[in-house]
Amino acid sequence: MKCAPFDYVRAATVDDVVTALADADGDGKILAGGQSLVPILALRMARPAVLVDVNRIPGLGGVRPDGAGDGAAVHVGALTRHSALAAQSHHPLLAEAARWIGHTAIRSRGTAGGSIAHADPSAELPVVAVGTGAVVTVSGPGRNRSVSADELFAGALMTSLGEDEMIIGIRFPVPQRWGFAEFARRHGDFALVTAVVAEIGGTVRIALGGVGSVPVRAAAGEQVLATGGTAAEAAAAASAELRPTADMHGSAPFRQAIAAEMIRRALAQARIDR
Ligand SMILES: Cc1cc2nc3c(=O)[nH]c(=O)nc-3n(C[C@H](O)[C@H](O)[C@H](O)COP(=O)(O)OP(=O)(O)OC[C@H]3O[C@@H](n4cnc5c(N)ncnc54)[C@H](O)[C@@H]3O)c2cc1C
Repeated sequence: MKCAPFDYVRAATVDDVVTALADADGDGKILAGGQSLVPILALRMARPAVLVDVNRIPGLGGVRPDGAGDGAAVHVGALTRHSALAAQSHHPLLAEAARWIGHTAIRSRGTAGGSIAHADPSAELPVVAVGTGAVVTVSGPGRNRSVSADELFAGALMTSLGEDEMIIGIRFPVPQRWGFAEFARRHGDFALVTAVVAEIGGTVRIALGGVGSVPVRAAAGEQVLATGGTAAEAAAAASAELRPTADMHGSAPFRQAIAAEMIRRALAQARIDR
């Protein structure tokens, strides 16, 4: 099947994007790496009247350190390709997560902003965003605003972004200790379950992907660790509070068991294995 007809706008600035989206009156879409949007268009699951290509906007790619010590973070431009995230050394957790995204061709085109905006519950970057307490910078008509990852993800493939807003960057805190574990049928497939562990300023955060419509914090597991419990106890408590749905890839108890194992592995990688 071919895409339904659309008007094409090549934006030179973020203002061009916001204007084009506002002019489209809810019927416009940003085109970044195209790795999620183009298949959706080809299947006619979306038929936007206007596509706004953001790939030629200068200054929106790259990873730069932002802050130091316990407040260390990196700023990731929205157009940073997954391959560039995987290659950088400022944020090793992000680099590891990016290596798990799809295959070489997808990583060379797909962007950080696109992955966050697409909000696939099995995608790697949204879990890292929630796991590290990332903050997303968004540009809209007449203003920029910041939104925490926790507040951004509203459901499967849904965010709190307005129809005329564009993500321009994401600030990811750098954890002092971290772990990343993923279970997929084959390396490069979307995850069945992903676990992210991040110790930031002495607090251990645990986030999971693939166990709900949005990435979730494992509050019970975090609480066990904060009160001196073991990694095994934390993994058990975290998985017990999950309510995953069954699908063709596995039952709810299967996903809970995999989640417990992924948390154990991520905690061990972070050397939080008391
Ligand atoms: C075969 C295959 C396997 C894949 N495997 C994985 C995987 O294992 N893990 C994974 O995480 N992903 C996977 N992906 C998806 C890939 O990571 C995409 O790159 C990513 O989901 C979307 O990024 P993009 O830049 O390609 O965005 P696009 O496809 O261009 O856009 C996706 C959506 O985000 C919106 N958007 C894009 N940029 C912005 C922005 N800056 N601000 C606001 N909205 C924006 C678009 O309008 C669209 O709605 C896979 C894709 C394919 C085709």
